[in-house]
Amino acid sequence: MSQLKFDLHCHSNVSDGLLPPEGVAARAKANGVDVWALTDHDELGGVARARAEAEALGMHYVAGVEISITWAGQTVHIVGLRVDETNRTLIEGLAATRNGRERRAREIASELEKVGICGTFDGALKHVGNPDLISRTHFARYMVEAGHCADTREVFANYLTEGKPGYVPHRWATLKESVDWIRGAGGVAVIAHPGRYKYTQTQFGALFDEFKQLGGAAIEVNTGSHTPEQYEEYAQIARSYGFLASMGSDFHGPGESRVDLGGLPPLPKGLTPVWHDWGL
Ligand code: AMP
Ligand code: MN
Ligand code: MN
Ligand code: MN
Repeated sequence: MSQLKFDLHCHSNVSDGLLPPEGVAARAKANGVDVWALTDHDELGGVARARAEAEALGMHYVAGVEISITWAGQTVHIVGLRVDETNRTLIEGLAATRNGRERRAREIASELEKVGICGTFDGALKHVGNPDLISRTHFARYMVEAGHCADTREVFANYLTEGKPGYVPHRWATLKESVDWIRGAGGVAVIAHPGRYKYTQTQFGALFDEFKQLGGAAIEVNTGSHTPEQYEEYAQIARSYGFLASMGSDFHGPGESRVDLGGLPPLPKGLTPVWHDWGL
């Protein structure tokens, strides 16, 4: 079991990735991934295609999703793994979460216009694979294309994030909703890339306690969003809270993501992996 390579977090163009689900599957396979989950933002539309391709390629497939929530005024992402993608409550919850993305996108565009950056709504739309899921990533890609920034990292450093032009606060689902939807669909709830959130230590403690109390089971330890030092830091958190540990590249596309599919090292020692009881 320890020989298998896992990648349990990545994106296709059904949300804000660059490749279609089949293309992500092929790249995961080529990179040696054995157990793979596609976890598009707030969307299950790629799951059936991803599963079909993964199975044709001989990978174990795990149905996944990454849910946007708001907790203590900040956006947090909760990954659901092994969900039943036909579960009505999950499907309807995600549809409600997606609702409002277009309105937010129009507001982002008008905020950017105030600093002289025009045409971003139509520009972002050109990069959208799923009209239901216009994301800041699509704005970032357009702004690179239009020459406002050298790459998407530079866009997020200067625009679209809190305190910067083009930032529009948004209310997503609640932590409880996300965990209830995932567990109700038979899945396991995982806090995605905890090292990315800008909480105080006290807030982090409250987030982990509340998540655990709601039935959340795991946190991502190795992710493309963590530095190697953070793998150890969050391994320690997982041990002390009794969380299972997950790992995933958070790959969005060639040339755009620091870590490629299957590109993470194995989990630190002394952790119970989220897949410990999957019978692999
Ligand atoms: P949205 O769901 O529309 O708010 O878009 C969030 C997406 O932007 C994330 O899933 C990432 O793919 C991308 N992103 C890249 N860099 C950053 C960053 N520094 N801050 C926030 N989002 C980022
Ligand atoms: Mn994304
Ligand atoms: Mn995320
Ligand atoms: Mn992600």
